[in-house]
Amino acid sequence: MMRPLIQPASATDAFPFSSAFEAEMMLGKQHPLRPYFEKVIAKERLTQDDALAIYHSTDLLAIGLLGDVARKVRATQGHENSVWWVHNYHINPTNICEDTCTFCSFKKGEQSPHAYFWPIQKVIDDIHAYEGNETLREFHIVAGHYKKANLAYYAEMFKALRKAFPWVNIKGLTAAEIDYIAKIEGITWEETLKVLIDSGLQALPGGGAEVFSPRVRALVCPDKISGETWCDIHGLAHKMGLKTNATMLAGLGETPEERVQHMIALREQQDKTGGFLSFIPLNCYYEKNKADAQHALTGFENLKNFAVSRLVLDNFPHIKAFWIHMGEKISQVGLHFGVDDVDGTVIQEKIAHAAGTQTAQGLTVRQLVHLIRQAGKTPVERDAFYNVVKVWDETAQAELAPAVVLNKAYH
Ligand code: SF4
Repeated sequence: MMRPLIQPASATDAFPFSSAFEAEMMLGKQHPLRPYFEKVIAKERLTQDDALAIYHSTDLLAIGLLGDVARKVRATQGHENSVWWVHNYHINPTNICEDTCTFCSFKKGEQSPHAYFWPIQKVIDDIHAYEGNETLREFHIVAGHYKKANLAYYAEMFKALRKAFPWVNIKGLTAAEIDYIAKIEGITWEETLKVLIDSGLQALPGGGAEVFSPRVRALVCPDKISGETWCDIHGLAHKMGLKTNATMLAGLGETPEERVQHMIALREQQDKTGGFLSFIPLNCYYEKNKADAQHALTGFENLKNFAVSRLVLDNFPHIKAFWIHMGEKISQVGLHFGVDDVDGTVIQEKIAHAAGTQTAQGLTVRQLVHLIRQAGKTPVERDAFYNVVKVWDETAQAELAPAVVLNKAYH
């Protein structure tokens, strides 16, 4: 009998996508990371010890392949090669904050000449002035903890946004802000969320999580809600029908163990209430704040955070590279380390820029689509809930490309 010219390869039969085949080739039976590859393929949950063993490996390409395999194993069918992004616009209506986070360069005291608190009409007018507003899909709204930015203020803002821009999703207020507003109003988190939801709130961002470790929080944000409280508020939001997101701000002197514990706490919360859409690993910046720059993350660590979070958070649909923090280049490489989302156009970010990030104030659609395509991925434009707006495959031209309109009031 004639031998077939091409023998079916057992590895490709077992793993119907290339990164698993590459991992099979690279992670031979003797490779120290091989057991985690086997677990990912078998869809078994990784333990804290597993995650730490991956963290402590210096075989970065093998770690990236593990993250990439996990991303493809967990992707929605048909989206194994997709990278999601949203045409979004950031609104930071006040930089006045009563809190004392050492890593924050955004906050100002009420008497500072640089303090601001925007009337709602200014928020609306600025968006009207942004020439790409007709194709926006998401408002990302976070600000300082300021008594005048109270429940009535945000309720009125959300109503005004829904009325003026009904095609744009409202993702607003971190768990720390929800807690602050509830406290100044003397009501419960549930009552606070109910008013905000009735006014148009649709999702929560992931901020305020920082690192859940009580040791680190006592050093860098002693007045902020605890990690448990942060998770409780997100759990409540999920039960009330909101989708939410989660961050981890690394570079505060936390250990790899504390990072993994942060991820496992999120995984446990997701097991209970299931409303998280994405996890966003962030790195700290150190200009004009009191955080210790000796803890600054390296490119290796940022890429490890992408891969390890994709591996640990097996119940999170998406891992996001927030290119504003990570830089466009590390974010792009991250697309092969388990990341499947690059956030979006981010018109126009202030908080990380206040602390020294050198990235642009916003990317055009053309730039984002180019960044994703150059990584060999298919850009998929989404709304805040990962509904597909448009698949930017080779036939789709990035002609949309609205110019980035910077806020004159800020500059
Ligand atoms: S990080 Fe947020 S809560 Fe902390 S000081 Fe800055 S604005 Fe305030």
